[in-house]
Amino acid sequence: MSKQYEMVIGLEVHVELATKTKIFCGCPTEFGKEPNTHVCPVCTGMPGALPVLNRSVVDYALALGAATHCLVNKLCRFDRKNYFYPDNPQNYQISQLYLPICHDGWVEIDGAAGRRRIRIHEMHMEEDAGKLVHDAWEDSSLVDFNRSGVPLIEIVSEPDLRDASEVIAYLEKLRSICRYLGISDCKLQEGSMRADVNLSVRELGSKTLGVRTEMKNLNSFKAITRAIAAERERQIELLEEGKIVLQETRRWDDNKEYSYAMRSKEDARDYRYFPDPDLPPVLIDDEWMGQVHSRQPEMQEQKIGRYLSEYQLPYEDARLITDSRCVAELFEETVKLCGQPKKAANWLTGETTRLLKENGMEAEDICFSPENLAELIQLVEKGELNNQNAKKVFEAMFTQNVKPQAYMEAHGLKTVIDNDLLEKTVAAVLAANPKTVDEYRSGKTKVIGFLVGQVMKQMRGKADPAAVNRQITEQL
Ligand code: ADP
Ligand code: MG
Ligand code: ZN
Repeated sequence: MSKQYEMVIGLEVHVELATKTKIFCGCPTEFGKEPNTHVCPVCTGMPGALPVLNRSVVDYALALGAATHCLVNKLCRFDRKNYFYPDNPQNYQISQLYLPICHDGWVEIDGAAGRRRIRIHEMHMEEDAGKLVHDAWEDSSLVDFNRSGVPLIEIVSEPDLRDASEVIAYLEKLRSICRYLGISDCKLQEGSMRADVNLSVRELGSKTLGVRTEMKNLNSFKAITRAIAAERERQIELLEEGKIVLQETRRWDDNKEYSYAMRSKEDARDYRYFPDPDLPPVLIDDEWMGQVHSRQPEMQEQKIGRYLSEYQLPYEDARLITDSRCVAELFEETVKLCGQPKKAANWLTGETTRLLKENGMEAEDICFSPENLAELIQLVEKGELNNQNAKKVFEAMFTQNVKPQAYMEAHGLKTVIDNDLLEKTVAAVLAANPKTVDEYRSGKTKVIGFLVGQVMKQMRGKADPAAVNRQITEQL
């Protein structure tokens, strides 16, 4: 292939909001209940039923807008997007087209090309549709309206993303922000975060945009990465053959690892949007904005800045810890108790990350308390736990939130500070290894590692390696 291509990607991300009730009625939003139990005339589109806007939805959208540097349309409005689909009982979806609540924001991401700013075109509020159940009965489909009317925020990016690493970094960033704000748990697998990937390719250096396709049904980061690679290849192949890319919506089949055309791309005009006459415009005054700003938590960027100056943490530690708000809070509480920011950071970035990954858990699933982490750090500090045994205690703490001191004592992991025993063991090991001792004395000081290992083995790992090292050097 002679020509070089670059990808241009823009995302439409739907985030399901964690409000207690739906966007236009009082039905609960709870997930996983018996079909059609959380429904009423409004969210099933009965004639004559009238929607009433849930104020929390606007609060959540404004919080997300503020965290992503958006401008606010102080007068915003809802529009009807008209289309027929069996899970859409009104034959229209209440959404926002002309005056969306937020616009022109940005987030910063770290992808393969380093730190880049991804612009947000706009953000709007809308209602979710119901759900079709296809496989329960032969030859027929069922519909569950529990999800109908659950509030969504759609976040539309500018076409600023250039590869899969940036797409994932962008989604992780949005997820982190939503979780900091407590407005959504953003789980791709459960559908509380959904991403449509708009992708085009163009010759490297070209300033004009190529024709894009939109891919739907991507419910994991892995699926997104695979779908992007396959679509890039498909489009480049078409262009290389002198063919054109059709603007269309494609559905990704992650099992077969290919996408197929669903429909040619519809236009906003096709939906015959018009302002919803049942809902008055929303006026967001300064007082309302003031309340939003006063409730805003300390966000990741601010925390990173503070961790660098207040705790003197390296940047990478600060970034990792603040990726999720619950780890950041765990860290801050631990430091308050033990006064050891770097030690606390090491446990949270090292062993914690490793165990989370190993167990397929998320930061929100962490169960050990700051008290216990602080206690563990202090036991190591006092020399009662060596690093190897501290890891054992930590693992028990990670899985069952055990009390470190009690666990250490019950499992005989406490470091022996019996100096007599240490002296005798060292003497015995030196006597048993005359060759190594000679090597050491003739200048090969590296062999001390072997001797330390022998002593540790004899003392069943319960000695402090630093103390062992000192004792050996002394005797030699
Ligand atoms: P529509 O409303 O028809 O879906 P939009 O203009 O709202 O189209 O764009 C939807 C998404 O597609 C946005 O995230 C935008 O950044 C992205 N996008 C638009 N044009 C292109 C293109 N040529 N290549 C890649 N992405 C694009
Ligand atoms: Mg769109
Ligand atoms: Zn309802």
